[in-house]
Amino acid sequence: MSVTQQQYPLFFIQRFKGKVLFNVPMSEHTSFKTGGNADVMAFPQDEGDLKDIITFAEAKNFPIYILGNGTNVLVKDGGIKGVVINMADGFKDISWENAKDGAAAVVGAGAKLSELVSECKDRGASGIEFACSIPGTVGGAVVMNAGAYGGQMQDVVEAVEIIGKKGQKSFLSKDEIGFSYRKSAIPKGAVITRAHMRFQIKDAEEIKRKIKEFREKRNVSMGIPFPNAGSVFKNPDGDFAGRLIEEAGLKGQTSGGAAVSDAHANVIVNRGNARAKDVLALIALVRDRVYSMKGVVLELEINVIGED
Ligand SMILES: Cc1cc2nc3c(=O)[nH]c(=O)nc-3n(C[C@H](O)[C@H](O)[C@H](O)COP(=O)(O)OP(=O)(O)OC[C@H]3O[C@@H](n4cnc5c(N)ncnc54)[C@H](O)[C@@H]3O)c2cc1C
Repeated sequence: MSVTQQQYPLFFIQRFKGKVLFNVPMSEHTSFKTGGNADVMAFPQDEGDLKDIITFAEAKNFPIYILGNGTNVLVKDGGIKGVVINMADGFKDISWENAKDGAAAVVGAGAKLSELVSECKDRGASGIEFACSIPGTVGGAVVMNAGAYGGQMQDVVEAVEIIGKKGQKSFLSKDEIGFSYRKSAIPKGAVITRAHMRFQIKDAEEIKRKIKEFREKRNVSMGIPFPNAGSVFKNPDGDFAGRLIEEAGLKGQTSGGAAVSDAHANVIVNRGNARAKDVLALIALVRDRVYSMKGVVLELEINVIGED
């Protein structure tokens, strides 16, 4: 069932501080730049907005999808029947706290990792340099336990604040977040509003040097000139998905407007007019071929959402 503008009472739209958009092309909100329309997209600015939209959608039985910067999702061509809560517009605050050792900050889920890295660099706070080229928000990065160059979010996140499915606020400790490789155990439907993070104090020049080194490495390995969502598959234990895909002869393989990147075999690119079904067909082909040639079942890292 589609959710239409008429189903949203005026009082709700008037009191909501953020934008509420209807029939929104998800291609404009995802790094893959493909996928159908979302019935509704709301951009909460604070916890009041967030509670309002969650309780409203729950009461009406409208499905909810949470979006950060849309850099790890593929939206299917039928779009999203329900409400997308876009967290990339509000919740950008970063507040620093006095800490006995190191530096501690409470970081809004909508803050970009690049902004956090830059602020940490200015303060000589070390630990998040690995994320300098990851294009997501802090909320999305916590959910995905995003990582690179030997670092990952679980190294710096101590707890998160969430708003649950009934609109209730709570804290999750690091143990409760349940970090593992490129995933966490954040309860389904819970929205992260803030992350409590801890860093080490280090020489600012050393931090700068590390960031520069990581950026240079990234330009060589993933300087990809087409829309994409980063690594499509998780690396299997002790191996690299990219290596397996390349050895299966799939670099450059196409399906409609989608292609396995020539630069990095674990990235699928949208060469301009890819439909989500092209990307999904390529994913199926890669998984089949790698399984039949290498005996390895590749597990998806990207999140596939929406309707066929
Ligand atoms: C060019 C490129 C390079 C990349 N490099 C890396 C890399 O080196 N390492 C890496 O790990 N990833 C990488 N990625 C993937 C992606 O950037 C990360 O996974 C990132 O952390 C996703 O953040 P996001 O805000 O875009 O989340 P989204 O893609 O919007 O969402 C990801 C998941 O998090 C959930 N979510 C988002 N925000 C919240 C919230 N506030 N509360 C609850 N749930 C939420 C969504 O529902 C979804 O399940 C790359 C992507 C691109 C395009």
